[in-house]
Amino acid sequence: MVVTVKIDYSCCTGCRKCVEACDYGVIEWFEDQPIVTNPINCSACSKCKLICPVEAISVKK
Ligand code: SF4
Ligand code: SF4
Repeated sequence: MVVTVKIDYSCCTGCRKCVEACDYGVIEWFEDQPIVTNPINCSACSKCKLICPVEAISVKK
């Protein structure tokens, strides 16, 4: 399964909730923002998307 996880940096506030929510280490904190590092490990659970307070994350299968 190929999953595309995208972060819209124009509305991300840097709260880190998505990094904490991902159980698969797909989203990591780098310098001052979250980045998608291991999309191959993504289960498409959408926890990151649901926890983001500003709806900055999209998850597409
Ligand atoms: S959809 Fe789930 S597994 Fe994929 S990046 Fe988000 S929290 Fe992690
Ligand atoms: S949960 Fe949303 S606002 Fe918070 S760091 Fe992640 S993408 Fe940015």
